[in-house]
Amino acid sequence: MSHRILVVEDNEANLELLVDWLESEGFQVETATTLDEAFAAFQSKLPETVLLDVQLGAQDGLTLAAWIRRDPELRNIPVIAVTAHAMLTDYERVMRAGCSACVSKPIDFRLLRKQLDRWLTEPAKAQPGS
Ligand code: MN
Repeated sequence: MSHRILVVEDNEANLELLVDWLESEGFQVETATTLDEAFAAFQSKLPETVLLDVQLGAQDGLTLAAWIRRDPELRNIPVIAVTAHAMLTDYERVMRAGCSACVSKPIDFRLLRKQLDRWLTEPAKAQPGS
């Protein structure tokens, strides 16, 4: 059975790259380019993992991560953050918001595959104190 992944990314080229790769890896992919679209994607079938661009234009992608962690029905869904900033402060901000992992752009697909394999077999946990 193929896993359902929600990809939230505002950049069209990045989104296309991620979707093409995920589909070639056999995943079932849903997409969202804004927070509203991302929230709406949870109204139908729940994704098993979320790939989340932290910078959604003017919107903070981490709003979605925090929302997922607060909802008892969603809180075990892993969220893998994708960030252009590999700085330590961003990593901490991402993990504090409840993300399960963080990969930086440009995406290393081998690393992303490892994270997906890990998180699709392990429920997410909110970070302590979040
Ligand atoms: Mn972006």
